[in-house]
Amino acid sequence: MFSPHTSLPDFLAVRDGQLHVDGVPVSQLAARAGTTPFYVYSRTAIGARIAALRAALPPAIHLHYAIKANPMPALVSAIAPQVDGFDVASAGELLTALNAGMAAESVSFAGPGKTAAELRQAVAAGVRVHVESRREIALLAELQQSLGVGARVALRINPDFALKGAGMRMGGGARPFGIDAEAAPEALAQIGAAGLQFEGFHLFAGSQNLKSDAIIAAQQATLALIEQLAEAAPAPVRHCNLGGGFGIAYFPGETALDLAPIADNLAQLSERAARTLPQAQLVLELGRYLVGEAGVYVCRVLDRKTSRGTTYLVTDGGLHQHLAASGNFGQVIRKNYPVRIATRMASYAPTEEVSIVGPLCTPLDILADKMTLPVAAPDDLVAVLQSGAYGASASPQAFLGHPPVRELLL
Ligand SMILES: *Cc1c(COP(=O)(O)O)cnc(C)c1O
Repeated sequence: MFSPHTSLPDFLAVRDGQLHVDGVPVSQLAARAGTTPFYVYSRTAIGARIAALRAALPPAIHLHYAIKANPMPALVSAIAPQVDGFDVASAGELLTALNAGMAAESVSFAGPGKTAAELRQAVAAGVRVHVESRREIALLAELQQSLGVGARVALRINPDFALKGAGMRMGGGARPFGIDAEAAPEALAQIGAAGLQFEGFHLFAGSQNLKSDAIIAAQQATLALIEQLAEAAPAPVRHCNLGGGFGIAYFPGETALDLAPIADNLAQLSERAARTLPQAQLVLELGRYLVGEAGVYVCRVLDRKTSRGTTYLVTDGGLHQHLAASGNFGQVIRKNYPVRIATRMASYAPTEEVSIVGPLCTPLDILADKMTLPVAAPDDLVAVLQSGAYGASASPQAFLGHPPVRELLL
């Protein structure tokens, strides 16, 4: 079972004591980037990940990429031909998706708080809007008139259950996402009366889950709820988005998600949907799972100091560029991401307990808290693994006025 603290994913290797990414030494990548810090992503690793997932899942299941996980345009373009659609959550992501060559037919736009201008762009582009309020339905009815283009919609539902064990719960109880399942029949009637092109339903119960049992339970409950709501729908269900939430291993003791039982369950659900919702396409939307393992964040040691018994490595990278690795992106308890001293990876290198911090004047700026790592010095490179998702775009890069992080796609 793959665990990033004890082994390396396939696109990473160690040669001559140095970490190599897709066969290139990390010091050479630093020279290519022109400066540290930088993120480096591997096309090969992303392609292999998507291929392995597709091989495991029943062929009838469609796979969408949620651009929010990593919106780098070159990366989104590389993914476009390998998935069945993109999920976007802003007009900015909408343009990224279309510019990457994804057909508007296969783009869906979800998110609470869509502006009238964003909805207008979405209708003009011909993408499907996942409506999350009565206001959005009313606005789309007007836009359909003024633009003379039919508005494609799906209804995003806030289910009456949550994804158990998810790193971030996004369904169940009171939520700003979607329309409560109880209120769905009224919203469906409004969609019908407004003459919008109804295509289906979207449920997203949570994110970053490593428990296949919990994912299976959520998918079963999701299909059951959609079957029930379909009775009140103004048109047959063609789009059935079961959410995603597949997690990756970040912390000590975590291991990779077991796909086999999820695939078995999806095969059963897909047979069942063929009877209960004969026109429906089942869709999974994944962000992190497709790209998270395929990225590394690299920064340079600037200083080494000791304070009352604790050894610190101070680097040029930190919280402002990698909020999640610092433990401040929704984590309840801070745990260490898989961190390596990328230029000291020989097996015989002497080790020490060390904390790695960034250059910001805040105690929150931690990349590694008391980890046992090879002894390092200024100019050594530090690599944070599992950094392909929720990195550059999910970090407060303007905080303290450092320059934006560079990104390489190999
Ligand atoms: C954030 C989000 C995703 C992607 O979540 P991952 O954990 O990156 O797979 C998918 N769908 C919706 C609606 C989201 O909000």
